[in-house]
Parts: sequence; structure tokens; C-alpha cells
Amino acid sequence: MKRRILWITFAITVLSIVVIVLLCNTVYYNKTVNDTHKYLETYMNYYDKSQGFSQQYATELSQKLNGARVTFIASDGMVVADSHNTSIVDTTHIDRQEVYDAMKSGEGFAVRKSDTVNADMAYYCLRQQDGSLVRISLLLDSSFNMFVQVLPVTLWFILVDVAISLAFSMLMVYYVLKPVRQMTEDAMIYPQIDTVYPELQPMADMMNKMKSEIALQIEQLNGEKELVEKAQQSKDEFIANVTHEMNTPLTSIKGYAELIGQGKLSDEQVNKFTRQIIVQSDRLSNLISCIINFGKLDTDDQPYEKVNVEKVVKDSVASLQPVASQRNIAISQTTEQVTVESTVDRVSQVVGNLITNAIKYNKDNGSITVCLKGGTNPSLTVSDSGIGISSENLPRIFDRFFTVDRSHNAQNHGFGLGLAAVKRICNKQGWKLSVTSTPDVGTTFVVEF
Ligand code: ADP
Repeated sequence: MKRRILWITFAITVLSIVVIVLLCNTVYYNKTVNDTHKYLETYMNYYDKSQGFSQQYATELSQKLNGARVTFIASDGMVVADSHNTSIVDTTHIDRQEVYDAMKSGEGFAVRKSDTVNADMAYYCLRQQDGSLVRISLLLDSSFNMFVQVLPVTLWFILVDVAISLAFSMLMVYYVLKPVRQMTEDAMIYPQIDTVYPELQPMADMMNKMKSEIALQIEQLNGEKELVEKAQQSKDEFIANVTHEMNTPLTSIKGYAELIGQGKLSDEQVNKFTRQIIVQSDRLSNLISCIINFGKLDTDDQPYEKVNVEKVVKDSVASLQPVASQRNIAISQTTEQVTVESTVDRVSQVVGNLITNAIKYNKDNGSITVCLKGGTNPSLTVSDSGIGISSENLPRIFDRFFTVDRSHNAQNHGFGLGLAAVKRICNKQGWKLSVTSTPDVGTTFVVEF
């Protein structure tokens, strides 16, 4: 940019000087022509008609007029005498512009290159009373000659002017670029850029805007990076948990199968271990369906419909009632009409998981209350009088594969995916899920639709 400005300055300076010189030259040349015209008119007053048109008088008059050329011309245009060139005597000059004009209108003036003296000349011709003509002419400097004469001065002028202009432009460039450079340096260091120059304020504003946009983008990228890292970590944890959960029944199956394979067991033992293999295989297949089911939640694109929650609750309680009865757990339910925009599958999973857990983690002879409230703020509450959850474990029960007591869960066949699925469905649906629990007293889950 600096180099460009300097080049432009240089070109403008040289061009303007050349134009000015040419203009001055033209003005000066025109003025010279005008002045010469006036001189010639004055010189004409020196002509004394009593002296006649002799060659001698032409020479004398020329000397008197500082060497100006004097030509006497007869009324028919024939040259009678000429102070500078006698060879033109008796030739016609009627074709000369000034002679022609003087013959027609009394006087004539012309500037042209003279073949006789081979230079620009100004001619002034005056018609006398008897029709004869007197012409006085003076040498003129041509405009080109004038230009050539002033050329050395012009060149010096160009040199000095260019030097001054360049120095001035460099100073200007320095002073203009200095605050800009300062601003870019500030931009690297400070969060906000300020300038004392109002002309640079829009640039500072733009830079500030860009800076805040970039900062925002970086923040977003960092956030996204964190999310990706979290997702990766959660994926790793998920895979580790799945592997662990699968490994336990597989190890058992392998152990029992090896024992049977040795052929040293009694029939009773073989029957017992075969049952165990079947139990562990069921657990494994149960785990696989749980994982597949859980994975489906993300890709589930079933169309929404109006789901009758009251019917889903009643059906779930009815189907789980036999399991509860086995441990003498009483389920009481109060329901109201509630309809939500969802899928029957999702609502069944939420209700089913909560009631199943309330049975699983209850005490024998315990109780469960299921309450479905309608109205403007519909909600489902599932309370049990079970073992409860400690405040330390409570925040983690919605994590995938989290189970409070593994030995207890081995007995209950839990994988820690039920509540994670409930949480995920509630999040997707925009339902609020909350839990309160007191160890050994019971737990209450509330879903606000
Ligand atoms: P699972 O029951 O298959 O282990 P969940 O995700 O349904 O998995 O539950 C996670 C953990 O939360 C359970 O292992 C259990 O310890 C605890 N939990 C869930 N519901 C209850 C409840 N009603 N009472 C006490 N503990 C519960």
C-alpha cells in the first residue's frame, strides 16, 4: 500500500508539472504573439511614406527598427523591395495571408514559418492610401523552442517537486498508517480497541465486532469440543459397561458348561448347572434386548399420537400385579383422565419401569401408590415403601448401567438401563422427572407431563 501511494504521488506530480509547463508555454507563446503584434503596429508608425518604396529605404527602415524585416509591396501584390531578401523582389506575395487580408480589409497579421529565414515570424501588413502595402515582420520563438528552452528548468523543477512530494507522501503514509498499525497491534493484546481518530472509528468498531464474533465462535467450538469429548467418554463408558455386563453371565455359562463337560457330576448337579446355564442365557438375552431397546430411543421416529395415559397406567398395574402379589406388595391406584402427544411405547416404558422398580426395590409386604392426576398440570406419581436410595446415590440413578447394589441387583436381574431410558424419554418429550427418597422408608418418582 505504501509503495502504491508513493507511485501514485510520483505519477501525479510528474504529470501535473508537465501539464502546467505545457499550459504556461502556450499562454506565454500567445502573449509573445500578441506583444509582437503590438510592436509591429508601433513599428509601422515609423514608416515615412514620403520616402517611397525604394530598396534603400527598406534597408534603412529595417535598421531603424532593430533589424525588423521590411517589405514593400505594390497594390497588385508584387514585392517592390525587401530589407532581408531581395530575391523575392518582383515576385507576388498575394498568397501570403497578411498581404491578402491587408488588401481586402486594410491590415493583416499572420504568424508562420518563413521559408526565407527558416523560422517562425510574425507579419504585420498595412495598406496605404494608394493601395500599396507595407509589411513589417519580426522573428518569433516557436512554442517548441520555448519548451526546449525551459526544459532544463522544468526538469529541475520536476526533480525538486517529486522529491518534496515523495517526502511529504512518506510522512503522510507514516502518519496515516501509524494509528492503523497501532490498532492492529492493540487488537492482538486488548479485548477492546479504541482510537482517538474519528475517521478510524468505523474500522475499530468493525474490528471489535469481529473480535467478539470470533471469541463467540471459539467459545462455541470449545463447547462443541467438550460435548464431543463427553459423548466419546460416555460411549467408551457404555461399551465398557456392556462388556462387563455381558462378561458376567458368559463366564458363568462357560464355567457350568466346562463342569458338565468333565462328566464327573451327579445327575442332580447336572440338572442344577443346566438350569443355571438357562438362567444366565436368559439374562444375557434380556441384556441384549435392553440395550437394543435403549438404543432405539435415539432413532425412534414413530409418529406422535394422542395417548391415553390412564389406560396405560391401569394396564401396567394389572400386568405387574401378579409379580407384586408374589411378595405380598399391595398396589393402590387413583387415576384421572390424562392424554399426551407421544407414542404408547414411550408412555408404557416410563410407567412400566417406575412401577417395576417400585416392586423390585420394595420390601416384602410393602405397598405402592400410583397416582395419575389430570387437569391443567397433569402428573404421574409412583411411591413405594421400599429400601429407598441414599442421598449419595440419588443423583446417579439416571446414569446408564448405574445400579446401587450389584449383589442386590444380581438377584433382581437389573442392568441399570431402566431409569436411564425413562430419563431419556422424559427429556425428549419435555416432561419433568423428579425423585425423592429416604433410605429404608421409600422412594417417590414424579413425572409432570
Ligand atoms: P435396574 O433396576 O435395572 O438396576 P434402573 O435404571 O431401573 O436399573 O435403576 C437404577 C438403580 O436405581 C437401581 O439399581 C436401584 O438401585 C435404584 N432404584 C431405582 N428405582 C428404585 C426404587 N423405587 N427404590 C429404590 N431404589 C431404586
